[in-house]
Amino acid sequence: MQRLGLMRAFFTRPPFPCFDNRLPPWYKPAMMRAFWTLTLLVVLGAGLAAQADPGLGFFEEAAAGPQVKAFVLSLDGGWTMNCYLVWDPGTRQALVIDPGAPAPVLLDFVRKQGLQVLAVLNTHGHYDHVGGNARIAASLETRFYLHRADRSLAAKTTGPEFVFSDYPEDGRLRLGSLEVEIIRTPGHSPGSVCLKIGDILFSGDTLFAGGIGKGHGGTPRQRRANLQLEIDSIRRRLLPLPPLTRVFPGHGPATTIGAERAFNRFVR
Ligand SMILES: [Zn+2]
Repeated sequence: MQRLGLMRAFFTRPPFPCFDNRLPPWYKPAMMRAFWTLTLLVVLGAGLAAQADPGLGFFEEAAAGPQVKAFVLSLDGGWTMNCYLVWDPGTRQALVIDPGAPAPVLLDFVRKQGLQVLAVLNTHGHYDHVGGNARIAASLETRFYLHRADRSLAAKTTGPEFVFSDYPEDGRLRLGSLEVEIIRTPGHSPGSVCLKIGDILFSGDTLFAGGIGKGHGGTPRQRRANLQLEIDSIRRRLLPLPPLTRVFPGHGPATTIGAERAFNRFVR
């Protein structure tokens, strides 16, 4: 009861503490009640309006198309990479993108969801993107795609006997009910590609949120040339995509083409 009394006192006193002992001539308890009620309504209204704000809503809307699940896989040396599973919820046909390390959790998920993995698509041949190929080949009957320019790079990890299929020359790969656009973006490695499925771009190590993948190996001069090639690839082939295209990179968080066009200082 005492607490209720305190609350009533709070809601009927003036909002200015300095008036506590000397009430102003205009003070009326009913007026104060109205003041606090109005304040409460404004705060509640602002909260509801913020919830209804469609600012980031496009992420939900896109959920009607292919489904994507990211698997963050641990690599030797204490860092991680992103492997992605994409599937058509209607046909249950699926693709794996860049299994960079053995991923029993991915194979478990595929089995439990009853998905049929039609292909594994590698964005490039570095060990942290093809390192889990062999494990998948041992468990599933599927094909592995890689651009031919990265064959020798991948062979260092998979061994030369591992069989890769080439991406088609026209950049269109149709696998069951899933259509993939292969976008050539050399620079990070000679055979780097980005994969576009619906409004989602899997950018490998070519484009990151706020960054780009640096090339490895070669002389400083070759590295500078490769970096320039990569920046040109991004500017020419990726940044012109629709701004709401979601970008899922090989490492780190997701982003959008619009955000990278506006804020990525390497390619603006
Ligand atoms: Zn790489």
